[in-house]
Amino acid sequence: MAQRTYRVMVIGGGIAGLTTAIALNRAGHEVRVFERYPRIEPLGAGLILWSNATNALRAIGLDKAVCSIGQPLARLAIVDVSGLTLAQTDARMISQQAGATTVAVHRADLVTALLAHLPDDAVATSKQFEYFSFEGGSVVAYFADGSRETGDVLVGADGLHSRVRAQIHGNHHPRYSGYTAWRAISPNTGNPLLGDDVSTETWGCGLRFGWVPLTGNRVYWFAVKNAPEGQHREPGGHKQELLRHFSDWHAPIPATLEATPDDAILRNDIFDRPSLPHWGVGPVTLAGDAAHPMTPNTGQGAAQAIEDAVVLEHYLSRYRTIDGALRGFEQSRIPRTSMITTLSRRIGVAAQIENAALCRIRDTVARLTPDDQGASQIEGIVNWQAPQIPDRSS
Ligand SMILES: Cc1cc2nc3c(=O)[nH]c(=O)nc-3n(C[C@H](O)[C@H](O)[C@H](O)COP(=O)(O)OP(=O)(O)OC[C@H]3O[C@@H](n4cnc5c(N)ncnc54)[C@H](O)[C@@H]3O)c2cc1C
Repeated sequence: MAQRTYRVMVIGGGIAGLTTAIALNRAGHEVRVFERYPRIEPLGAGLILWSNATNALRAIGLDKAVCSIGQPLARLAIVDVSGLTLAQTDARMISQQAGATTVAVHRADLVTALLAHLPDDAVATSKQFEYFSFEGGSVVAYFADGSRETGDVLVGADGLHSRVRAQIHGNHHPRYSGYTAWRAISPNTGNPLLGDDVSTETWGCGLRFGWVPLTGNRVYWFAVKNAPEGQHREPGGHKQELLRHFSDWHAPIPATLEATPDDAILRNDIFDRPSLPHWGVGPVTLAGDAAHPMTPNTGQGAAQAIEDAVVLEHYLSRYRTIDGALRGFEQSRIPRTSMITTLSRRIGVAAQIENAALCRIRDTVARLTPDDQGASQIEGIVNWQAPQIPDRSS
């Protein structure tokens, strides 16, 4: 039987939207991405892509391109503010078991690599999606510029504040985590604690600092602080505020902050949402943060978006009806993404403890817990094998 192919509209040109488009285009579907901004801006800081992400990228022919721009990570260490190791994960061993590398990438490099794998006319920009309707057996997307587009399937990959999700499930405010995060890329001044293939996360009390080596002698860093939702930039700028909090933390944290221009620092409050019993309706579904926004504590948001892309294609190519394929896709993804959302939130609670006595207890427990116990939790997530997708794009 000939493979069914569909006209698929993807709303949003982030990691979820672009990988979904690549997976579906590769399988022979006619895909268009609609992005609200005039350009797909290669913005953002860094990402760790665990083996489940690189395995999913392999299924859509992208692992080599992405690994070639990524810094392989051998270990991830949690340390205290003096630099003493509390726990560490052997990422190389976990990657070997999962059969795919764990890499750190600059988000801009990743987006550029993804765009290079799509036909030029696959992405339409300045297309702010407003709403969809079902008309004559098709789904129609309406945009802020007054235009409309028709397709067989619509995928809402429009992020945390997804309009597609809001139309189906109501416009609810996301769940604030209680902490805010700053992120940037800066020159790598070297990490005297550990090697250049080791990522560190330093736990203080209500404060955290992550240091992730990238290729090209760059480092991706993030800082996390307990704070009320919606606070604005401090008068002296992000950098001055961060130096106030982190200047007496272990090297290379102060030097890394000093080496970062203030206007290169991004700040976002961190949110997630409780999981849904289903994501879409009829020929409409969700992917990425639109479906399952999670706090970044397991480093899995982008990875889960990439998994969504591969699994969505798998279901669309194998089910007789679009509705059956999309509901099957959602039911296969919801348990896994809900589990990771819950785990991420729990790790965030422990990592952001503010009370000094409780911090000491947390650090002692972390130090005394065998490293392989922590690793087994990560292995449970990253040991994920992607369904295979035949390349029918040419
Ligand atoms: C501090 C931090 C650290 C992180 N670290 C990691 C990590 O190490 N590893 C990891 O795997 N993940 C990590 N993540 C998570 C990861 O960044 C996200 O899960 C991922 O980028 C989500 O991609 P997305 O495409 O679903 O959403 P987005 O990146 O938000 O993309 C949505 C796109 O849709 C567009 N859009 C929105 N509304 C509309 C509309 N109405 N019409 C048209 N277009 C629209 C937007 O402009 C955007 O381009 C981190 C997140 C944070 C905040």
